[in-house]
Amino acid sequence: MLQIGSLSLTFHGHDLIVDSELELNYARRYGLLGLKGCGKSTLLTAIGCRELPIPQHMDICHLTREIEASDMSALQAVVSCDEERVKLEKEAEILAAQDDCGGDALDHVYERFNKQTQATKTRDFSGGCRMRIASARSLFMNTTILLLDEPTNHLDHSHNSYVHVDGTWYPKFDRILVVISHSQDFLNGVCTNIIHMQNKKLKLYTGNYDQEPDEAVQMGAGADWQIASMKEYIARFGHGSAKLARQAQSKEKTLAKMERGGLTEKVVRDRILVLFRFTNVGKLPPPVLQFVEVTFGYTPHNLLYKKLDLGVDLDSRIALVGPNGAGKSTLLKLMTGEVAPLDGKVRRHNHLRIAQFHQHLAEKLDQDMSALQYMLKEYPRNEEERMRVAVGKFGLSGKAQVMPMRNLSDGRRSRVIFAWLAYRQPQLLLLDEPTNHLDDIETIGSLAEALYEWDGGLVLVSHDFRLINQVAREIWVCENQAVTRWEGDIMDFKRNT
Ligand code: ATP
Repeated sequence: MLQIGSLSLTFHGHDLIVDSELELNYARRYGLLGLKGCGKSTLLTAIGCRELPIPQHMDICHLTREIEASDMSALQAVVSCDEERVKLEKEAEILAAQDDCGGDALDHVYERFNKQTQATKTRDFSGGCRMRIASARSLFMNTTILLLDEPTNHLDHSHNSYVHVDGTWYPKFDRILVVISHSQDFLNGVCTNIIHMQNKKLKLYTGNYDQEPDEAVQMGAGADWQIASMKEYIARFGHGSAKLARQAQSKEKTLAKMERGGLTEKVVRDRILVLFRFTNVGKLPPPVLQFVEVTFGYTPHNLLYKKLDLGVDLDSRIALVGPNGAGKSTLLKLMTGEVAPLDGKVRRHNHLRIAQFHQHLAEKLDQDMSALQYMLKEYPRNEEERMRVAVGKFGLSGKAQVMPMRNLSDGRRSRVIFAWLAYRQPQLLLLDEPTNHLDDIETIGSLAEALYEWDGGLVLVSHDFRLINQVAREIWVCENQAVTRWEGDIMDFKRNT
């Protein structure tokens, strides 16, 4: 067990944690929750860098994101993990010479990467594959304390379900895991405990994010953060669309039950409501976007799609799912025209305005500019006030509008991108993993609600079931060079795949 008393943490002069306690036990998997900006990642980094008193014999692996795109091969990336590099290189040499490698962690690596894949440069992998390399690397390390910051970004559904079905993503896990994730699904599947960072203290609860109501009632005081989040949800969605309102009603019932159990005095509201808003755009007559016998591969010998026929219009609400590397992002690129079919045709309505969200947009922002300056540069000849309103629609107000974007969190930078996209008043939105950097569950709820209320067309690639569940009306599966429609909702898909 690791026990740290009187823990205080500051970041650039701001107190993040003041005189709190942290206790981590073996064979426990802790989900670290808290408002965005409260310092969750900083705490993880402090543990990872041993800024806290952690005994030397406890080795630590801190995994922050997918492996960077580089010329390093997948195998090189897996084994180049700093501390154990020499040892790992030796083992890797032996293993590379064998067809059948031993050891749980390496089995895991090899299961997922055949010889050719191992030699592929990480630059050429899809986001999901790079994340897998990073997780394979963390398994490979077999460290006492494993710290994961947003591990589900990019992971495909089969990979995520793997966690839920038998909990074996971290096989025979007898060490300590601390994880930050905005994916409620993932937290439910993986965590045995929750650490809630709130009011500069750490509170420890037993259970995952979304315990069954009865269990939550039995959890006693441990349920307070959950109650706070439910109240927020009810306030926010209770009067919204039918589907969201139904979910809010069910939460209301649970809450009433908890209140009867005397659990609500401890409630401290800590969610900040953020409203997102897209401008309604009206209709274009179908067909708006049509694929006619489209064949595509980045090389002709390795086709991702063969003779695709499909159509998207402004009533479409489509979620693309399928294994990592199947070509979901590529399908979006075919829709925008960023890549062209090798054969067949993609027809777009002459007046169609498409906007695509992907993470690389955030990387291209000029970090020295403020959100407001950026919008004024992108949309010149507009009054400042107009641009303030535009970014305000995505929850950026006051100082956040005028400070250099390098000082904004990833989540807020993503919101600048949404403001920028929305200002173009697209009729068709293509969203590629939009929630990866939206850093709290309620903000994702805001996006879901804004999309739900909006009248345009939507094609979404996301590993976030909750978002898909809230906004998609059709599920399309990209697999085996084809796109097929899933007859059922995302929850059926999850159960059946
Ligand atoms: P994920 O869920 O992992 O993000 P995806 O289904 O979105 O994956 P894509 O990103 O479309 O998959 O990639 C499909 C395949 O094409 C992958 O094997 C990827 O390595 C490859 N690929 C993607 N972009 C390029 C490129 N510019 N050049 C060559 N190959 C590429």
